[in-house]
Amino acid sequence: MRVARDSTFDDERQRFALRHCCEDCGMFNLARSACAHEWPTQEHRRSDYEQPTPDILFCKEFELR
Ligand code: SF4
Repeated sequence: MRVARDSTFDDERQRFALRHCCEDCGMFNLARSACAHEWPTQEHRRSDYEQPTPDILFCKEFELR
């Protein structure tokens, strides 16, 4: 799911320590640095949100680790 990014998201991501990236997901294989279901992870990684991006991508298979 792709949604527009705004300053509210950035504020709340930090204030509530939101977990939504592959590194926070039980399907993420840390050793392989890849999704166990072979989904592309380029736009779900935590580092993506440390820089300005026009939108936010949420994975529908995200399972909190
Ligand atoms: S299921 Fe989605 S959020 Fe989880 S590791 Fe795979 S791509 Fe990332």
